[in-house]
Amino acid sequence: MLHIGCHLSSSKGFAAMGRQALELGADTFQFFTRNPRGSRAKELDTADAASLLALLGENHFAPIVAHAPYTLNLCGATAENRRFAQETMADDLRRLEHLPGQYYNFHPGSHVGQGTAEGVRLIARALNLLLTPDQATTVLLETMAGKGSEVGGRFEELREILDQVELDGKMGVCLDTCHVSDAGYDIIHDLDGVLTEFDKVLGLGRLKAIHLNDSKNPRGSHKDRHACLGEGTIGLEALARIVRHPALRDLPFCLETPNDLDGYRREIALMRELAERK
Ligand code: FE
Ligand code: FE
Ligand code: ZN
Repeated sequence: MLHIGCHLSSSKGFAAMGRQALELGADTFQFFTRNPRGSRAKELDTADAASLLALLGENHFAPIVAHAPYTLNLCGATAENRRFAQETMADDLRRLEHLPGQYYNFHPGSHVGQGTAEGVRLIARALNLLLTPDQATTVLLETMAGKGSEVGGRFEELREILDQVELDGKMGVCLDTCHVSDAGYDIIHDLDGVLTEFDKVLGLGRLKAIHLNDSKNPRGSHKDRHACLGEGTIGLEALARIVRHPALRDLPFCLETPNDLDGYRREIALMRELAERK
C-alpha cells in the first residue's frame, strides 16, 4: 500500500500531528522542526514524543520526515552563519533522538558565490561534526531545483557530499518531484531514465523519501514553485506513474502542495486511488 501524507504544522505538538495525519487518511507526514526563520524551538515534551511514537507504530506509519528550516545554510559565506546553521542542526538531531528511526531532511545549502566545490566541502565538513555512530535518525539531502547558488540541483553534487561524509551510512536522499523537474530531469516522459541516472550516481538504496509536488514552471526553469497535483507542468499522469513505480512504491510520499487540510485530504485520497489503478 502507498505510504502518503503531507506537510503538517507542529504548533500543537507531536501527538496532535499524528492524530491530524490519521484524520487526513495519511500514514506518514512531514513537519518543520522549528519555524522557517530558524528561531529557538520549544523544549521537547518527551511524553508527547512517546505518544506520537506509539501512534505511528499502532497505525503502521512509514517513517515521518522532520524538515530543517529552509533558511539553514551549512555552506553560508560567513563563519557566524555556518555556526548558527550547525548549532540549529545539532539541536534538531538531539531532539529527534526522542523519535528514533525517523528522517531529518534538509536543503544542502547555497554556496552564495563560493562555488559548488567549496559549498560541498563546507556541507560535508559540518555533517562530519554533527553525525554520530549511534544516532537513530537518518539525515536526508533533498534534491534541489538549482535556483541561484543552490547546491544539490544535480545528483552528482549530492554524490560529492556523500563521498566526503565519513558516517555516510547515516545519510540518505529525499527526491522532490517539483525540484528535480525544475532542475531539468525529465520525470514526465522518462521516469525510468531519471531513476536509472539516480541509481548510477547515488544508488537507489539511498532514496528514502519523496516530496510529491507538481510544479508551476517548466522543466529546467530552476524556479522551485510548487503547484497542487494535476495543476502544474508535471501533471497527474506523470505523478501517478511515480507513486506506482516498483522502485518507489514502498517509500514515504509527502505532499508539499499549496493546500489547506481539505485539499491535502483530497490529494491523499486521489493518489491512493491512482496508485491502485492499473
Ligand atoms: Fe524542502
Ligand atoms: Fe521539498
Ligand atoms: Zn520546494
